[in-house]
Amino acid sequence: MVVVPFHNSLHVGFVIEFCARPELSKIRPIAYAVDEPAVFDEDMVELCKWMSRYYLSPLSQALHLVLPPGRARHVIEVIELIEDVDQAIEKTGLRAERERLIIEALAASENSLPMRELKSRLGNWAPQVVRKIEARGSIARRFVLPKAKISSLKIRVLEISEAGKQALAENADMQKRSPARYRLLQALAENGGEMSAPDLQRLQVASHSSLRAAIDAGLIIESRLIRPRRTFTNRFFARDEAHDLNAEQNTALKSVIRALESESPGACLLHGVTGSGKTEVYLQAIDHVLKNGRSCIVLVPEIALTPQMVQRFKARLGEDVALLHSKLGLGERYDQWRGIREGRHRVVIGARSALFAPLKDLGLVVIDEEHETTYKEGSSPRYNAGRVAFELARLKKALVIYGSATPSIESRFAAGQGDYAYLQLPRRIDNRPLPRGEAVDMRELKETGMPSLISPRLATALAGVYKAGEQAILFLNRRGFARFLQCHSCGHIFQCPNCSVSLCYHSREGYLLCHHCDWRALPPFTCPECGKGEHRYTGAGTERVEAELKRLLPSLQSIRMDADTTRRKDSHWDILEHFKSGKAQVLLGTQMIAKGLDIPNVTLVGIISADTSLGLPDFRAGERTFQLLTQVSGRTGRGTRPGRVIVQTFNPDHYALRAAMAGDESAFYEREIRLRREVNYPPFCRLVNMVVAANNEEDAINVSEWIGGFLTEKFANKAGIELLGPAPAPLSRIRGRYRYHLTLKAPSLQSLTGLDDCLDAYESFRASYCRKRGVARETVSLIVDVDPVSML
Ligand code: ADP
Ligand code: ZN
Repeated sequence: MVVVPFHNSLHVGFVIEFCARPELSKIRPIAYAVDEPAVFDEDMVELCKWMSRYYLSPLSQALHLVLPPGRARHVIEVIELIEDVDQAIEKTGLRAERERLIIEALAASENSLPMRELKSRLGNWAPQVVRKIEARGSIARRFVLPKAKISSLKIRVLEISEAGKQALAENADMQKRSPARYRLLQALAENGGEMSAPDLQRLQVASHSSLRAAIDAGLIIESRLIRPRRTFTNRFFARDEAHDLNAEQNTALKSVIRALESESPGACLLHGVTGSGKTEVYLQAIDHVLKNGRSCIVLVPEIALTPQMVQRFKARLGEDVALLHSKLGLGERYDQWRGIREGRHRVVIGARSALFAPLKDLGLVVIDEEHETTYKEGSSPRYNAGRVAFELARLKKALVIYGSATPSIESRFAAGQGDYAYLQLPRRIDNRPLPRGEAVDMRELKETGMPSLISPRLATALAGVYKAGEQAILFLNRRGFARFLQCHSCGHIFQCPNCSVSLCYHSREGYLLCHHCDWRALPPFTCPECGKGEHRYTGAGTERVEAELKRLLPSLQSIRMDADTTRRKDSHWDILEHFKSGKAQVLLGTQMIAKGLDIPNVTLVGIISADTSLGLPDFRAGERTFQLLTQVSGRTGRGTRPGRVIVQTFNPDHYALRAAMAGDESAFYEREIRLRREVNYPPFCRLVNMVVAANNEEDAINVSEWIGGFLTEKFANKAGIELLGPAPAPLSRIRGRYRYHLTLKAPSLQSLTGLDDCLDAYESFRASYCRKRGVARETVSLIVDVDPVSML
């Protein structure tokens, strides 16, 4: 890490290689080297170069991914006194008042201060004077990474006192006389005599007032402690022992270990139905890797899914586990990063960016639920973590395990071609039956004139679950109350003024909200077309289901989990814990609840509408629907009782839906792969999607047409390359910007060599075009997405 002059200021840069003679003529010397161990190694540089080439994005953007959290762009300039104070002052001469002030300030602060501090204490003249003293050799300048602010928090700790212990031991009839007090003391005694207040509360053994009374009676001592913030504070992890693997798990683990021990381990696809014990295989593979002194990365797709995973991993692997994801505070993330670099954590669990954790001696990368679209990054470099993991593992001679109950069509195809080893776990643990789906044809329901969100069959099943003391999961992949608000008189649908989408109605806050740009409108909603004020809510969201549920089954307790209820940092933990504790019988939510939950008491899954993903204008709509339905269904029947899945739909005959309900993955795969081959879509071709956005529709059209012309000329004579568009993107306007897209289909990415020329040419075209039109260059932008997962 170095500090280099650029224009009139200093910037942080990275030395990634040396050359004998620079290609550029005007080169300025490096100003300073940063006083820190290197933040990434050669392999990481190689990986970033690969990403930059593959995803057609600048190397600097790729490098930013591997920098320590929050420390990416700035270093602190520290001024240090390196001579004896008196000697230094002597050298300043008589009239150098300001120099003396600086030297004294340094001497008073253990001989060093950040430049910023000097400037704010003494004045803006400080840097100039510092330079003078530096020239004389009295002080030196260093650049360092700023220290992470160790955020600490005060926690209330409750401890059983001597009197409390005595009371517990001697007073045999306390249990009868004051059971709450007895439970409190008992709980503390069982947990080593001391617990944090939140932990004790979570056990729910007694009310606040009983606790207060016990403190006042001197049986419990209350104190406040300052503890460094730890990522897992307040969470208990019961120890967990390894299971004896069943025959299929054993075969899979053996193949994994064989691969781990080979020269180039490559990758394997662990295809196991929900509840087949994939996680157990990961854990034992990780154990093997750790025993050989190497480290592991485990990627999970969504934060809502991590609590249970983290719990299981912590329970098994303890302090070795670090957690990296965006919901951690910056300080927490930096602490984890530091711990990883210093070798205190050898297993990193996290979202896609955890791939770039500074682990030494990487041996294994696990990509859990590998089919998930969240592995794709939404801003440049638009990388897919699964693909990058493959490259990283190749560099480190590590193994990748792609695990899923519903592998992506591409991975399944790669396994079929022998690119990945194909490992299967076709049965659930203990041969528990896979749940079977029953479709409720909502068309018939509509004909009977009872348009309802929750069909009678689902309502009856929910009531049955309630009676039996079991639990249910209700799934609807749409938050809010209503997908849109429609004028009752003229049929007008309320649209976002900035985006080409309808506004969703959120009943609790009572406003219309755009899910793309957050634009919101408050009542009264008068129709802009006819001026009337009567509306209809159409297209239900989770909020509406919640209301409907209350109306139909008032005694049933439900808890909702979606983007609206999980804004707070730990809310997803809390919601899941609330549900697991049995205080709610129904967990209602969006795709956040589709994966990973392993709650044995859940015996019913209700899918409110299976149609939300079928209608998407995307060639993967069928695949997404199949995956989602299979994953949600997999949340039930994980205990000893069989599970039931009720699917409400207007398309009961769709092949993806039928296959998902029958649990027939291979039927789905065969059909889908045939379709893909016929229309030449991945895995039979590679896609590059380009989206031009502009404030003005004409500019979007002109620029995308220019790009189209350039690409046609460049690739016209190459076999198998097809250009689709330019055409308005499915989301044709977002945040007031018009969007046009072009899609390149090519037999391989190699056949698109030279596409980066297009980007250079586009830059100069844009500059001259915008000059001619008299608009700012930033009003026109281009996104290049290699291997897109969404074409919207
Ligand atoms: P998956 O990751 O495929 O959904 P899990 O690893 O979560 O499956 O396993 C499902 C349940 O079965 C978990 O509760 C797990 O603890 C348990 N389990 C896994 N492997 C075994 C085994 N070999 N013997 C007994 N129980 C197991
Ligand atoms: Zn909008």
